[in-house]
Amino acid sequence: MSEINLANPEVAVREIRLGSITGFGGSAEELMQQSRCGLKDKGRSFSQCLGCSTAQAACMVTLIQDAAVISHGPVGCSSCLHEFAFTYRVNSPLRGIGTPTPRRIFSTNLAERDTIYGGAEKLAAAIREVYARTKANAIFVLTTCAAGIIGDDTESVCDEAEEELSIPVIAIFCEGFRSKVWTSGFDAGYHGIARKLIAPPRQRRTDIINVINFWGSDIFSEWFAPFGAKPNFITPYSTVESLKYASEAAATIQACQTLGSYLGAVLEKEFGVPEIKAAPPYGVAQTDHWFRTLGKLMGKEDEAEALIAEKKKEYLPGIAALREKLQGKTAYVTGGAAHGHALLSILGELGLTAIGASIFHHDPLYDNDAEDADALAASVKNYGDVPNFNVCNKQEFELVNTLSRLRPDVLLCRHGGMTLWGAKLGIPAQLIGDEHFGMGYEGIVRYGERILETLENDEFVKNLEKHAVNPYTKWWLSQDPLTFLEGHKSA
Ligand code: SF4
Repeated sequence: MSEINLANPEVAVREIRLGSITGFGGSAEELMQQSRCGLKDKGRSFSQCLGCSTAQAACMVTLIQDAAVISHGPVGCSSCLHEFAFTYRVNSPLRGIGTPTPRRIFSTNLAERDTIYGGAEKLAAAIREVYARTKANAIFVLTTCAAGIIGDDTESVCDEAEEELSIPVIAIFCEGFRSKVWTSGFDAGYHGIARKLIAPPRQRRTDIINVINFWGSDIFSEWFAPFGAKPNFITPYSTVESLKYASEAAATIQACQTLGSYLGAVLEKEFGVPEIKAAPPYGVAQTDHWFRTLGKLMGKEDEAEALIAEKKKEYLPGIAALREKLQGKTAYVTGGAAHGHALLSILGELGLTAIGASIFHHDPLYDNDAEDADALAASVKNYGDVPNFNVCNKQEFELVNTLSRLRPDVLLCRHGGMTLWGAKLGIPAQLIGDEHFGMGYEGIVRYGERILETLENDEFVKNLEKHAVNPYTKWWLSQDPLTFLEGHKSA
């Protein structure tokens, strides 16, 4: 298990903590095998774009209902925060929240002068102003490259403000330059929550299970009922109070190991909350395994078996019918690591052939060191290898080149902005933002029906292809897609 130190204001980035990479070309099985014996990252001699850790940290702290967030840096660095305000609002019906509260998002707006004289005073004034305006129950301060480079003592400013205002004021160290693996920002956000918000448990409760997730629909209230428990979602639509006592839960589960790897390990190691160390429930085999693991941990194995039997009776016929319709179709997946792997399992279960994937980074193992938590390994074991498996931090030039060669029947995406590449090439593309949509037996049916709809309604993308202008030249499209990946030899 990687080192955890809540006394330290910062958490190490994933490259250092987990040996995570952003460059690989080969097959899923090769990557899985290399992950067990010293996986090495491959650089790119050309890079088009990169995500920023600030955005991932912001993603988690912006979704807390009664907190405020300050981006300490130039105003441009805070542009991504508004994206999560949008996410918060549009996904609130998935969690039954009728009137979502406005998000409280601010920037210290560091200017050139501040980079010379320092931004600490500006930050201290901003924290006071934000508290006066919002009366938030906690304030998060996200550091940016500029604040890091000029060496502002953000931690001290936050500590002093905390004393003055008597609310948690939490510095989160997530400057974009720290890591090529932008999911390091999730860890930074959770590290701040763990060191300043989560309190030692007063008791151990058997009726609460932590769910570390993005913003997906609440499927867990129904799933946990036979175990006598309710979900405590971390962090979407949580409150400072509900996060504080996440330490008392019976267990922690994760919708996506890429997201919750660090916090799951912290809750177990520092607060005694056991983590379900099984890959999330995507595909029949993994759903069986996940429910059994949960049942064992909760001491309710019979209840788990009854739930599995009941759900399989209800949903397996529907899955078989969809498999018959989808058999032989080809698909390509693009998404973040663990969720992208989950989509491969759904495809395998539905009888589609995954002919490739572009996955934004890869963690050889998660913070809990459990091979059983490896969603890619589960997918390869249950549904076989995937060729053309590219670890690629959203380098769209590689994706477009690959898609134009492979031309799958359908493109599955996890992030906005990626579907358009399929559509421009006349490939039906599907984006589902609710990460719980494909979970469990019922999720396979939901997903399969949506894929069928997407395949059957391809007229728009076929027309679009005729009129779309591809920004990539014929020269680039005739090169090997991995031309710029270090050490790659063209086939
Ligand atoms: S990479 Fe640095 S400069 Fe760019 S948005 Fe992120 S924090 Fe700001």
